[in-house]
Amino acid sequence: VSDLAVLGGSVEVVVRDGRIAGGPAAGLPSLDATGLVVAPGLVDLQCNGAGGVDLAAEPERLWDVAALLPRWGVTAWLPTIVTSPPHVRERAAATLLAGPPAGWVGAVPLGLHLEGPFLSPDHRGAHPAELLAPPSPSEVAGWSPGAGVRMVTIAPELPGALDVVRDLVSRGVIVSAGHTGASVEEAAAGVDAGVRWVTHLFNGMAPLHHRRPGIAGVALTDPRLRVGLIVDGIHVHPRTVAAVWPALRGRLTLVTDAVAALGAPPGPLRLGDSTVTAGPDGVRLADGTLAGSDLSLDRAVRNLVAFTGCPLADAVAAASAVPCALLGEADRGVLAPGAVGDVVVLTPAGEVVATVIGGAVAWRS
Ligand code: ZN
Repeated sequence: VSDLAVLGGSVEVVVRDGRIAGGPAAGLPSLDATGLVVAPGLVDLQCNGAGGVDLAAEPERLWDVAALLPRWGVTAWLPTIVTSPPHVRERAAATLLAGPPAGWVGAVPLGLHLEGPFLSPDHRGAHPAELLAPPSPSEVAGWSPGAGVRMVTIAPELPGALDVVRDLVSRGVIVSAGHTGASVEEAAAGVDAGVRWVTHLFNGMAPLHHRRPGIAGVALTDPRLRVGLIVDGIHVHPRTVAAVWPALRGRLTLVTDAVAALGAPPGPLRLGDSTVTAGPDGVRLADGTLAGSDLSLDRAVRNLVAFTGCPLADAVAAASAVPCALLGEADRGVLAPGAVGDVVVLTPAGEVVATVIGGAVAWRS
């Protein structure tokens, strides 16, 4: 079913043929949202896996991960591949381009986010050192949205990085700065070359220093950048989230950086070729390094409200309208006639009640 009316008090969202349409709702199947919040579906720009599946280990299971995400309010996402051998990226792209299996329902993948391999060895986090590579125009020659690559995270200070940034941008790929030791000058040069996002602010970069603010300082002050933040209360302290919120309001994009541990039973799991374990202090490698999260995007929304006191609508925008604006997806992240019929119904506290994708109910509590 791709026709649906979501009805709640003064709110009436009508979806016909998968797109939001002007009324009337009469005659359509309907979802009762009385007393609830009706919002655009959530969009995750950085998700490495879920439900025990790690995309870098099993890229062919991309559609299985996508099918799990609606329970957390997610209607579209960028499947994210951490630094991996080329064949992993190629298999993920092939799986994406082949399209979903028959009868599949899930969060729509809008293209891959390749996080690496052009990252700083000094800020690699959980990315394997032996797979990092210097930026290379020949390596990215085939990377484009048409080939399945929507976003690339790169350290802009690496030799040759700015040429690769310009190359990718010219082909319509969104370039992000991350896992980087960039100074203010190096980060600004990256933005001038076309960098438009910052991958998980504060994680995988030098801390904000008042005399050497580095890329974090640029992220907080350059209006050309939108900025990813992992608001799980572990990757970034709640007080830090509250401190940077006024600078980032309208530019902050909530991400999960979720790994296989999201929605999986406890126990060791894969992240690429590494083993990670989820615990109360986050998902970590054996040496204690944080390695993604088990955060869901709806929880990130609730956390942002809790940590900053912002209205739920602002937190939802950070997980819908703002990432869609970065992607240039003008018909997503808004509830307006003509937009894709992706809707999330939330309690006033931000718990997911129902997720609608293209006018079909993909998940209900
Ligand atoms: Zn990362």
